[in-house]
Amino acid sequence: MNTDFKCPHCLNLLNVGDNIVFSTRNSWGKQGLIILHPELGNYTVIKHPGFEVLEGEILEFYCPFCSKQLLSARNANLASILMSDENGIEYEIHFSRIAGQHSTYKIIGQNIDIYGEDAAEYFDAFNGGSW
Ligand SMILES: [Zn+2]
Repeated sequence: MNTDFKCPHCLNLLNVGDNIVFSTRNSWGKQGLIILHPELGNYTVIKHPGFEVLEGEILEFYCPFCSKQLLSARNANLASILMSDENGIEYEIHFSRIAGQHSTYKIIGQNIDIYGEDAAEYFDAFNGGSW
């Protein structure tokens, strides 16, 4: 079994190959597809060059299936999806919605793994976890 990523609302799979596909909206309300890498801590972003995203801009992430917004309950600047690993164990993934900000959190119960050089930015949102 491979690592899979799912919408927390409709549970449809968001990943295909080495891509996690999101429908997004930038701060001017323009919509575009954003593809993120399934390896946590890899911040490669693929998008159409005509879909402009400025560094520091906050994007809205939506499920391409049910169109619900993928907002984290931990912090308004974070998006949240589900991940299941090769053993079928399910985690919450939270990541920054701010373009260029590298903050990712993998949560199961009280355990949190962190990724990205900007992860310290949201430590407050995850206090109570063991690091
Ligand atoms: Zn969905």
